[in-house]
Amino acid sequence: MGNRFPAGGYLEKILRVDLTERRIIDETVCADVLHQFIGGTGLGIRLLYDELKPGIDPYSPENRVIFATGPVTGTMVPGSGTYSVISKNTLTGLVAAAQANGFFGARLKYSGYDAVVVQGRSDRPVYLHICDGKAELEDASDLVGKDTFETDMLLHRKYGEDGVEHGISVAAIGPAGENLVRYACIVSDRGHVASSGGVGAIMGSKNLKAIVVRGKHGVPIHSSNVKSYLENVKQWVEEAKSSSMGKLVSNYGSIGFFVPYHSRGWVPVKNLTTNIFAGEEVFEAEYIRGRLHHVQPRSCHGCTFYHCHTVEVAKGTYKGVVGESQHVLRSVPQKRLSLFNRKHFTQRPRLCKWRAFPFYPGGIGKSYGNPNRGNNCSCESFWASQEVLSAGFLK
Ligand code: SF4
Repeated sequence: MGNRFPAGGYLEKILRVDLTERRIIDETVCADVLHQFIGGTGLGIRLLYDELKPGIDPYSPENRVIFATGPVTGTMVPGSGTYSVISKNTLTGLVAAAQANGFFGARLKYSGYDAVVVQGRSDRPVYLHICDGKAELEDASDLVGKDTFETDMLLHRKYGEDGVEHGISVAAIGPAGENLVRYACIVSDRGHVASSGGVGAIMGSKNLKAIVVRGKHGVPIHSSNVKSYLENVKQWVEEAKSSSMGKLVSNYGSIGFFVPYHSRGWVPVKNLTTNIFAGEEVFEAEYIRGRLHHVQPRSCHGCTFYHCHTVEVAKGTYKGVVGESQHVLRSVPQKRLSLFNRKHFTQRPRLCKWRAFPFYPGGIGKSYGNPNRGNNCSCESFWASQEVLSAGFLK
């Protein structure tokens, strides 16, 4: 193995789970591989390349779904709760590499592993529980059909934790993944989404409903690097806080991007037939935060940006807490389809995250798939229809 990667950052250990054989084993990762393919995505792609035969079907048991972390995951580096999910892509047949922020990546590391490789297919729904270097498959039949928020809350309660900021992290699929929707995603920490490549559908094809991670393992940092590591973290935090982007994001999340983007003509409206959205004031961050909903900051592991916020829906069908939607989420229904309805600021993102299919392709798919639209891009009855999109999401 040599000593080419002495600076730590990795535990040099992965967990392999064969769902067909119900076999769980620890494996060592060669330090040279970690050095050459830095980060969770690099490690995951290397493992996938080594292990998959060419031409396999993404939904076949031979496909892998790999949850992987990088060398700074779980450290004090801002935003280092991120993880990558690597698999064969359900849409392209190439590589799927999806990332989500939050806490899951950090807690995967604290559970004792740099990565989890899942292969095979379970004959019944299961979830994987990993804690302090031990892993078990548990029956998930009572979680089938539940959305990702419900699944997360039920598993938190089962393991004695209530808030997402403490203790355990759950990465789960919803009905979209269970039903093998080709662009289904994985939702972790109630609102952080690994959304591309159909990774949720791959989990569904393996009958794997969720992964729960927790533990007390530290992330090794070589003693000779501690001083420079702390200096770098301090510098990054200060630079992030003092930058204009940092200030905007800390105050308003990415919803503060709308007005500058719109004034530069970057916002696609009515399926890119124009870049003018009448009544842009309803997208101004001050208006949304002041008039439409109230938010609570909820930052990811180690992040000083506080750009993620939660919104409480006080009553109605969608009662509960959901992550505030981002600028890009609003781009699809509110601008691309030219729809505006205040309840949809929280409703549609909530539906997507519950059911675990990505908002952006979902919204675009609905827009192009609407039979009323035909070739008439200026069909006002369609553009004005508030319920078309929601009805589609509810199906
Ligand atoms: S709070 Fe926002 S900026 Fe910070 S890590 Fe999470 S997603 Fe990224």
